[in-house]
Amino acid sequence: MYYLDKLNQKKTVLSRRRLLQKASLIASAALLPGAMSMAVRAQGGLTEDPFKLGVASGDPLSDGFVIWTRLALYPTEVEYGMRPEAMLVHWEVSETENMNRIVQEGSVIAHPELGHSVHVELRGLNPGREYWYRFRYADYQSRIGRGITTPVMGSPLAQFKFAYVSCQHYERGFYPAYRDLVEQDPQFIVHLGDYIYENDPNRFTVRRHEGPEPKTLEQYRARYSLYRMDPELQRAHAHTTWAFTWDDHEVDNNYANDQSQDRDDPQRFLERRSAAYQAYYEMMPLRSSAKPQGAHLHLYQRIVFGDLLAFNILDDRQYRSDHPCDFTGGGPNVMADLCSELTDPSRTLLGAAQEGWLANNLANHEARWNVLAQQTLFSQYNRGANGSAVYATDGWDGYPEARGRIIKQLVRAQTPNPILIGGDVHSYWVADVKEDWNEPSSRTVASEFVGTSITSNGGLNSQHDALRQQNPHVKLIETEQRGYVMCTVTPEQWRVDHRCVEDAGILDPNSQLRTQRSFVVENGRAGAEQV
Ligand code: FE
Ligand code: CA
Repeated sequence: MYYLDKLNQKKTVLSRRRLLQKASLIASAALLPGAMSMAVRAQGGLTEDPFKLGVASGDPLSDGFVIWTRLALYPTEVEYGMRPEAMLVHWEVSETENMNRIVQEGSVIAHPELGHSVHVELRGLNPGREYWYRFRYADYQSRIGRGITTPVMGSPLAQFKFAYVSCQHYERGFYPAYRDLVEQDPQFIVHLGDYIYENDPNRFTVRRHEGPEPKTLEQYRARYSLYRMDPELQRAHAHTTWAFTWDDHEVDNNYANDQSQDRDDPQRFLERRSAAYQAYYEMMPLRSSAKPQGAHLHLYQRIVFGDLLAFNILDDRQYRSDHPCDFTGGGPNVMADLCSELTDPSRTLLGAAQEGWLANNLANHEARWNVLAQQTLFSQYNRGANGSAVYATDGWDGYPEARGRIIKQLVRAQTPNPILIGGDVHSYWVADVKEDWNEPSSRTVASEFVGTSITSNGGLNSQHDALRQQNPHVKLIETEQRGYVMCTVTPEQWRVDHRCVEDAGILDPNSQLRTQRSFVVENGRAGAEQV
């Protein structure tokens, strides 16, 4: 009932706003010569800036990257104000920030079937440098964005600075973290998922979702756009090139492959997933190989920066087996003794194709540091009180056999300096990845650094107090701080800085951030040390 009232209310507000807009169009047309052409322009969506969603660049190669924009007059509305027509958008790329040395330009069609989004895959640029780009439609120009190409694979790279982020619940607070991130000027940004949250509006929060929980393409578009209208997030996208993976909330909380949280009919859930995946593609600077095919979108990829570091960006949502011993949809914890599915070797988190692809990558010794960039906590974390073994099932703890295969491959392939980065748990974690989790003296195979959320709530540190002793490989859990992680990488050292928002309630968009603590991993020696 409440829900219906709210929808009706919204409709009334919208139509009133539309009427006002129409009235002002007619008024301005009457004032100008050539009222007829004005009407055409109005129909073409030219009475207002269509670049309100800003620009973005993504998926860098050594000779190019993807540049993105999307035309929308009312981006956060289901009817976003564009006629269902293809529109020709001009783009240009410059070697200089003021766009006075254009090296490439062209035109591209913004298709209504793709929400009037524009993805241009630049090629033929020089490696290891920055470029600037912008878009034009009629008299309107987008803001200028910056993008980077990677240094050629294997070429020497002395230092690289990048940031990673996750979990930016819009209703939980503002994005001072993104303002700080831009000021810190990383060369590259990796988003590890929960770019949006799909829940209904919450009337008690500092800012609110618009519209109900999205199920259709149009609703997901509007939800993504609401997030992207945040000025700090837009600035971060314009600042440099990003790469992406997603977690659950881009579609539905704790979904697993074709299983929704509410145990919808899998076929129907896949229809919803197609809508969500398409909106994701439309809103992100992804290459055409990621264009969705029905309910599938190929997101995982490898990005290499010279001889210094290789990112293996993983998708652990789309192909995973269902949660173990779960009859309710994304059940949070299981007791190991009561769940034989946990140790079923046929269960997978990445799917066979991605797992094989990753195994190959891990055998490649071209880069000094080898990153597994993925969405959830990798390390084992026993949550059981009084001697029992209890594991959360939505992360790798729900898929220990799949995790074991990766650890085995890291050992067998002698992957140089493996580093895991992750999100999802809304807290900072630093952990040693052990060859045998239950044997503290066993070899440390890799170093894990989970980043906290941009805004999403992380619970209390005290919840973990009683669990520390039984998880000696976990060196830090910090759940009460919001922010992100900045990494500075050289051939000799991997450095992690926890950039934290001082106002932990993030109710102030101008809140400052500071480096709360730092860790390093030395070349050739797995395991983090606090500095
Ligand atoms: Fe999250
Ligand atoms: Ca999540």
